[in-house]
Amino acid sequence: MTQQISAVDNHRLDPAELTVLRARLHEDRLFRRQQLQDIAQGANDPVETTYAADLAAHSEIRHKLTVAAQTALAETEAALARMDAGRYGGCGRCGRTISIQCLTVHPQARYCTPCHHFLETQR
Ligand SMILES: [Zn+2]
Repeated sequence: MTQQISAVDNHRLDPAELTVLRARLHEDRLFRRQQLQDIAQGANDPVETTYAADLAAHSEIRHKLTVAAQTALAETEAALARMDAGRYGGCGRCGRTISIQCLTVHPQARYCTPCHHFLETQR
């Protein structure tokens, strides 16, 4: 994919670092799409049990996996959209630049570390 990094700010992240982060987000998007496909296909696999409780547990696990994968995919797509709009790398709460260390670990990050912790305690 030869998509150009937006000329807009992107919180003045290094273009080389942005390229790496974009590639990782693309990879993650592919992985999540594949994962969702696999889960959907697995739904048709015969389950080797006739116990209703086991069948319900299988269905419950599949549902949780699907929701987790969909959430992760949405976060990845939102991060790519922010990058395209030139808004990537800024904290959605305080507006400060998210550290490159944090983005390297979690390219989908929406918040800087202090805000992330603050929001966690608000749940
Ligand atoms: Zn913040």
